[in-house]
Amino acid sequence: MTRPFPFPQLGYSLTEVDGFLLCRRPGCRQCAGSPEFVPLHWDCFEIFRTQSSIDWDDVLCRLWVAASWRTPWRGASPMCFPIDAARSSSLKALCSICKLPQLHRLPLELLQMVQSYSEHALMWRGALAFDLAAHISNKTPSGLTTMPLKDIFFWEREKQLQVTSSQSLPLIRITVDSIGISKIERISPQAYKGECYSSRVYVVEQEQAVFKCKVQFKDGFSRLELASSSPLSPPAIWNTPDPPDLQLCRAYERKSLSQYQRFFAVEVTSIRGITFFFSSRQLYAIHIHRSGGLSALSSFQRLPPRRRRSVSWCYLPITNQDRILVLGVRTLPNQHINILVRMEKAGDLIIGQYMSSPAEDRCLGWHAPITLVYGEPQEGQPVPYFGAYCQPPTRKFPKRLQAYKPKSFPISEETCFSMASLEGLQSVEVFYDQDGQHCRGMLLYYQNGGCRAVGQCRIHVDSSKQFLQPSQICFRTNSLRGNGHVVLYNVQVDWRADSHRHEEKGWACQPLDGILVFWYTHNSSFMAIEK
Ligand SMILES: [Zn+2]
Ligand SMILES: [Zn+2]
Repeated sequence: MTRPFPFPQLGYSLTEVDGFLLCRRPGCRQCAGSPEFVPLHWDCFEIFRTQSSIDWDDVLCRLWVAASWRTPWRGASPMCFPIDAARSSSLKALCSICKLPQLHRLPLELLQMVQSYSEHALMWRGALAFDLAAHISNKTPSGLTTMPLKDIFFWEREKQLQVTSSQSLPLIRITVDSIGISKIERISPQAYKGECYSSRVYVVEQEQAVFKCKVQFKDGFSRLELASSSPLSPPAIWNTPDPPDLQLCRAYERKSLSQYQRFFAVEVTSIRGITFFFSSRQLYAIHIHRSGGLSALSSFQRLPPRRRRSVSWCYLPITNQDRILVLGVRTLPNQHINILVRMEKAGDLIIGQYMSSPAEDRCLGWHAPITLVYGEPQEGQPVPYFGAYCQPPTRKFPKRLQAYKPKSFPISEETCFSMASLEGLQSVEVFYDQDGQHCRGMLLYYQNGGCRAVGQCRIHVDSSKQFLQPSQICFRTNSLRGNGHVVLYNVQVDWRADSHRHEEKGWACQPLDGILVFWYTHNSSFMAIEK
């Protein structure tokens, strides 16, 4: 154990802790050869220590297994499972220690909401540390055993192991949850069925691919030991038990495809929307919006602090009356990327930072139902893989998405562009920045059931206001001086259905026809109406 230290920033640091250099460089070769380590919050550790009722050396030993075996093999990227401290059996005790007895009496659903707004609070971490201490103290430790992965027919945490017979099924599936590997089983090949989870992940491999891997068992837990001499890259990790065949996915792939690749399959028919995070012309993160799910803030917070300061939130709304017909990408040789979407009702959308030069379009999926498949980026890196999986298309290749040519181009480089028709509107939701005055983005709902987003719509993050059946749009664009010669803009918007006058100067009131264009960066918004 080392002394406590502040968690290092991404990259290589010169801070030495008890003779060890801290390093958070993704894929660092030097680290791969150094002793294994597990970072623990100091305060969580203190709680754990005071709550454990067994011999200190023994506690450390068992804590090491519980903590390091959470990753299914050494070097696997962190899984970031949603934590469910609201269900913790220690929460009641902790609430009374913290003099918050009412909190524990809340219904589970409300408790989970409170937790989602204070995810990293000591209260929740402390409850989990209590649970772990109780679990470890009450268990009889077992010795370490190791066996080849190919010899295992079935194993489930805390259950008996079954070894393979001579004629075994060809695939091995490993299930991993927030505690570590929970199940190892032999399966026959299965087609992708659209079953996706956020609380567990799966590794599915052919027996030959993991021939040299071994499995360690101790204290009811298990962990994979990858063959160090194996030329094969570590197995892919999926959010579905029957991953789609990557050979059948059409995708945009960046060169630096990570060795430890984690893939997500998303059934786009079952989601409410997607937030794409763009910065420096590239896509840095993807957040899937599900009903009752977390806001995109949880994905934003996983970006490195420096990236957070320059990233734009680009939202794709998917109403329950609309669906994605075509998914694609538009790219430039400098890796500038836009996401292309054709919605049945909302029409064509080009999402990302504006491209002024001719670009290459690639259609990734055009036969519903489309499954979005993307790879989780290594920390600080852009999304390495963005693709679609669908049935072999019977329909012919869709016609090219037409890019709207805006007449204005107010903000300099790396500006996101969005546009929407002002005709056929049913209602509008306006999202405001912190001061509650300036519009960061808007959702325009149409009579045909479609919805388009302009600007940054940070759902459940920024305050918003609904305007029903508007007949006029009123707006005022203000220019501000940013750093150096950069001019920043902000926009005030009102949607009206009555005759009115504005007290302040500079407001333009317009009937609802033409195209609303909205340019934006993380800190600037500019709006115009073009006819
Ligand atoms: Zn390193
Ligand atoms: Zn007005």
